[in-house]
Amino acid sequence: SKPIVAIVGRPNVGKSTLFNQIGKRRVSIVDDMPGVTRDRIYMDAEWLNHTFTMIDTGGIEFEDDDHILKSMRQQALVAMEEADVIVFVVDGRAGLTTADEEVGRMLRNTKKPVILAVNKIDSPQLEAGVYEFYSLGLGEPLGIAASNSLGLGDLLDAVVAAF
Ligand code: GDP
Ligand code: MG
Repeated sequence: SKPIVAIVGRPNVGKSTLFNQIGKRRVSIVDDMPGVTRDRIYMDAEWLNHTFTMIDTGGIEFEDDDHILKSMRQQALVAMEEADVIVFVVDGRAGLTTADEEVGRMLRNTKKPVILAVNKIDSPQLEAGVYEFYSLGLGEPLGIAASNSLGLGDLLDAVVAAF
């Protein structure tokens, strides 16, 4: 059966945008509004000769800190159980947060491959924003801009190389 790729990360880092860009179908909800309820969504996607199933683990996301942590822990657990490869998305504009660090610790303890994507690196001037994420201990942070597909080729190369 097809490998499963799970996308995890804080609310508003751009998980659904990335999911939609990879799948080229707008089936996941992208929303600026806080407290929007979103379901976990599965979609088949293709890169090079690989077909895989993606999960947008967004689920129900709230903006207050307690709920963010709770939902991120849940996402990470789902991903670690169900996925073959985990894409951990962080926000290169917001910078490293304690919630990122907590999920990073959980993901360091899985044997599954984890690809670290630093989103919202919209221009080369913002590339320096990726470096602080080395401290998560999840390998090389890959700068991307999901909203205009920058860096998605390199990201997907890393994903399929991990199958
Ligand atoms: P999610 O909550 O993690 O699923 O995040 P969304 O995909 O819903 O995106 C949250 C917000 O970030 C939306 O306003 C998106 O337009 C914005 N966003 C997503 N990707 C990028 C990006 O590459 N650059 C910038 N500047 N904004 C982005
Ligand atoms: Mg989402």
